[in-house]
Amino acid sequence: MLEILPDVPASSLPIVGQAPSLSVSPKRRLPPWLKRPLPQAGMAFTSGVIEDLKLETVCESAKCPNRTECWSQRTATFMILGNVCTRPCGCCAVPKGKTEKLQADEPARVAEAAARLGLKYVVITSVTRDDLADGGADHFYRCVIAVRERTGADVEVLTPDFMGNNAAIDRVIESRPDVFNHNTETVPRLYHRVRRNAEYQRTLNLLDRVKQKAPDMPTKSGLMLGLGETMDEVLEVCADLRKVGCDMLTMGQYLQPTPAHLPVERFVPPEEFEQVGNLAKSMGFRMVASAPFVRSSYHAGEMVSVMDPVIDINADAE
Ligand code: SF4
Repeated sequence: MLEILPDVPASSLPIVGQAPSLSVSPKRRLPPWLKRPLPQAGMAFTSGVIEDLKLETVCESAKCPNRTECWSQRTATFMILGNVCTRPCGCCAVPKGKTEKLQADEPARVAEAAARLGLKYVVITSVTRDDLADGGADHFYRCVIAVRERTGADVEVLTPDFMGNNAAIDRVIESRPDVFNHNTETVPRLYHRVRRNAEYQRTLNLLDRVKQKAPDMPTKSGLMLGLGETMDEVLEVCADLRKVGCDMLTMGQYLQPTPAHLPVERFVPPEEFEQVGNLAKSMGFRMVASAPFVRSSYHAGEMVSVMDPVIDINADAE
């Protein structure tokens, strides 16, 4: 179940400086709270649509543990710009190497899949394409427009950092996504190990840029826990995200997709997810989802529907 956290008064929360460390010794066996449901009837339907339209999904490429659940509910997250990434992140199962040519008909195929699946809320993400001058921003734009025109669905984009190229970020903003999501992934100390070729400040700058250009566009970011971070470090990231106006936050357990990827340093128990989620919520995020199986796109439409309203601080000023 998606755990969406209520407001918690700051006075009832543990003191941040005394919070326990999230980083302890490695464990190999999956703990009991990391069990997933068996496939249901809708799974084959979703699979058939994706295959028929020759689309990529991050659900498959990143070996997401929620695929059975999401696909059974006829939900998937489309991954555009090919199935090969230009970055060597140690945590991600998406293939790396020689990239593919852009497919001009991909926006129409994504839109068709969204229509066949009956999606009311569509999440579009991509591989990172540092080989393209605009990082694939215009392709993002065309996919958002195509989905909206074909289905009328709300669209969330989950983008790479576009190497900090403001023109590229602005091009995606022009498509007016309903949510602009860009993941922080981990704490700055671990960037080199987890997210090589990315920069923590660049991620914050991207989220800041979206808020500057489109203040009413909700921004969202996500963190994986269990890579060796401490709770203090996580909370520092949360504070930095709030400083750039980030509205929504997801936190979930990192799981090693294959033995060649970074090991799990720790399986964070559900109670700690709840604790750190409550602390984050008290910082002013409009929505925090924090639980072992939370992913950026997990129940994404549901997350938006429970987002707190923006409080107009000038409303009673007269
Ligand atoms: S959580 Fe997101 S990436 Fe994972 S299966 Fe569900 S829709 Fe796909």
